[in-house]
Amino acid sequence: MLSTLSKEKRSFNVEEIRKDFPILEQQVNGYPLVYLDNAATTQKPNAVIDAISRYYRTINANVHRGAHSLSDAATQEFEAARSTLANFVNSPAPEQIIWTRGTTEAINLIAHCWGRANLAKGDRILVSELEHHSNIVPWQLVCEEKGARVEPVRVNQNGEIDLEDFHRLLDERVRLVSINHVSNVLGSVNPVKTIIDSAHSVGALCVIDGAQAVSHFPVDVQVLNCDFYCFSAHKLFGPTGIGVLWGRKQLLESMPPYQGGGEMIEQVSFSGTTFNGLPYKFEAGTPDIAGAIGFKAAVDYLSVFDRAELEAHEYSLLQYCIELGRAFESIKRIGTSDTQVGVYSFLLDGCHPADVGTLLDQQGIAVRTGHHCAQPLMKVFSIPGTVRASFSIYNTHAEIDRLFAGLEKARKFLQ
Ligand code: PMP
Repeated sequence: MLSTLSKEKRSFNVEEIRKDFPILEQQVNGYPLVYLDNAATTQKPNAVIDAISRYYRTINANVHRGAHSLSDAATQEFEAARSTLANFVNSPAPEQIIWTRGTTEAINLIAHCWGRANLAKGDRILVSELEHHSNIVPWQLVCEEKGARVEPVRVNQNGEIDLEDFHRLLDERVRLVSINHVSNVLGSVNPVKTIIDSAHSVGALCVIDGAQAVSHFPVDVQVLNCDFYCFSAHKLFGPTGIGVLWGRKQLLESMPPYQGGGEMIEQVSFSGTTFNGLPYKFEAGTPDIAGAIGFKAAVDYLSVFDRAELEAHEYSLLQYCIELGRAFESIKRIGTSDTQVGVYSFLLDGCHPADVGTLLDQQGIAVRTGHHCAQPLMKVFSIPGTVRASFSIYNTHAEIDRLFAGLEKARKFLQ
């Protein structure tokens, strides 16, 4: 009986879901908030807010110190969070989940630890032109130090990675390929499985930046067969300041530590220090305990839904937005790949994206404008930036109507 109950999923009802997110009840600039900036960060359900508050109210203590009951309770919840995240991406073991501050720090950790130990003069790293700066700059920093090169794989005018160009660039001097699973600017879902398999065929490692993927569809690191997978809690209904680096065990074990300090050591002496095992070798200092507990609450929250229903809802929002966009005079959609999730990027003829964003904000509609930390991609399209509406499970079709009504006003004002 119990196991049947625990497998039961909460049926999808967007109005019920909205009640779980207290921030959505707000008025902004005199209008009910329409939050369409989910690719920047998602809102947090009560379950997450309450879990963090409960931690501080009832079990706040440092972890892995074991000296008293609160510390035991905090440690248990902190490690339970790691196990939940391991299940979430189907990691073979919890110790392959390394807590970081987010995707940015996860990628920097790989560049710093793996890159410095393994790259040599003449080596190459491939990224695509549609990467977030956090999947470009860490590689540039380490390559500069080691005499290696970062090379971009071209992106076509639909916003898709040009696989021919990728195969042309791929040879045995390529030591690592780092690609995002979903573009934060366009929402295009990249063919990461093909990229991972091809990278492996020349002996290169493959890093997947999953920051924009995990909130939209299930991810299985074993099916993908990637070497590293990175993501942030805050884009997945969890708190800011915490994320995950998932890595292949052998690779993580072979890498030197990231930062030195407490927790990451086994023995410290002036004649030589030895390091802790996984995952602690990479987790120097007091971790974000409340963040990990909040992250677990976010994943638990998501797990009560049938993900296919959530995906279908988001798909229908995007299709509706594309349909209204087609009928709207003077919109140019940027990124027209057939495989997109959660993002509608566009320009209004003759209007600067920042002005469009400001006029929408005055009507209570939150979107993001600018280059979205992807300047090389802006260059591909020869544009300074876009207006980006990005969707989540709590958005409604009525909110997309509000977006287009807002755009109509903005157009009249600006054109
Ligand atoms: N990669 C992608 C694709 C992103 O969208 C983001 C966040 N916008 C990042 C990396 C960086 O994530 P964070 O700021 O959480 O470290």
